[in-house]
Amino acid sequence: MTAPPMAKLDAHDACSAPIRQAGSQGRCHSSQRIGLTFSLYARNAVFFVILMLMIDTWLVSGIVYPIRVAGPSMMPSLDGPRFEIACPQCGYPLCWCAATQSFANCLERARCPNCGTRLARLMTSGNQQPQPNVRAGNPVVILKGLWRAWKRWDTVAFYNAGEHGGLTVKRIVGLPGERTEIRDGVLWADGRLQPRPWEVQRSMCVPVNLPRNREDSVIHLDAASSLSQWEVEATHNTVTTYCHFHPALDQYEKPTRNLILRFSLERFSPGTRLHIRSRFGSGHVEATLTLPSEFSVVCFDESPDGTSTKREQISGKLPPLIGEGEFAVSLVDQHFLLIVNDRVITQMFYAARPLAKPIQRPFEVIVERGSVAIHNLGLWKVSCYDDEHRWADPLPGYYVLGDDPHVSLDSRHFGIVAPDRVIGRVIKWPF
Ligand SMILES: [Zn+2]
Repeated sequence: MTAPPMAKLDAHDACSAPIRQAGSQGRCHSSQRIGLTFSLYARNAVFFVILMLMIDTWLVSGIVYPIRVAGPSMMPSLDGPRFEIACPQCGYPLCWCAATQSFANCLERARCPNCGTRLARLMTSGNQQPQPNVRAGNPVVILKGLWRAWKRWDTVAFYNAGEHGGLTVKRIVGLPGERTEIRDGVLWADGRLQPRPWEVQRSMCVPVNLPRNREDSVIHLDAASSLSQWEVEATHNTVTTYCHFHPALDQYEKPTRNLILRFSLERFSPGTRLHIRSRFGSGHVEATLTLPSEFSVVCFDESPDGTSTKREQISGKLPPLIGEGEFAVSLVDQHFLLIVNDRVITQMFYAARPLAKPIQRPFEVIVERGSVAIHNLGLWKVSCYDDEHRWADPLPGYYVLGDDPHVSLDSRHFGIVAPDRVIGRVIKWPF
């Protein structure tokens, strides 16, 4: 006689019940363990198969498509093939594009952005010629995306036609339907200035001058002592649009105001007033930080006869400074930005006249009250769009530019990229 269905149900229920009899406990546990182990294996196997299928589908169908950067036009946000050596004078890691120039020519003409030394001078004084590491371009992946709505400042890959054909990586700066223009070194869309956002500036900036900026170098500024001010100087020929990735190429050098001051605030006495003066050629911005919590920013326009007029003032609260505060002041694209821990605290447009000569002391750091210790102080710059280019009709697609406009072949040369040619957004690998 077979057991009634109720009895089976009871036995099963006994195992899953919270209180069980001692005799049935071991038997139930071993069968449960076998069941659990099997289900774990089965689940892992299914998960593994799905994972392999997903990876395979992605790579095969091209939702994720790995490539290597082959050219120099997106340096420094995406590096192409390059030579890497350490500066024989100061040890600063130097990096030169290897796709467009020979190492010997670079050595002949390069200048270290950290110590300002011309490397040719070191070579003629009897030093042994350094041997570079030759690196391939950055590995990147193309994310195809499902909605295919690309935004301004996205780095995208597309298939280009004609003379500059093939898979190409550039940054979108103009969107379909806009009237895009490059004028006065900045980008305009429908008559509105389009400054590069901080995330883009950060990925594009290169060092100009890192004075006495060693790992162990800390600058102490004290209002009560003689050292209360630090002028961030720049040698006369480095505050230009010249890019040190291409020392052997004849580049058109123009004075640039696309400068960034960066430093880390190691410590400060509460109530310290730290003053940063930023000069943009036809005026200056005075930023005052009352540490740890307040800031104020005032912009002054200067007339050619030297008189200055206060134009705009913004004040507010700083975010809480936990540990070291990373500060940056940017003058890129006719906008002053105050950045704390990678967050834009305030920004202000400044009207700029063309620069006749490079700005000698673009930034001054002054302690008016209290004391601070700062390190990693350095002057950086972002490439400037030197030439003028105008697209008078609404764009039929995307207007794209390389991050280094001096060597980039982009929409200024091959025109607009049709939306259906864009494959996807490019991101660095590993992320
Ligand atoms: Zn050096």
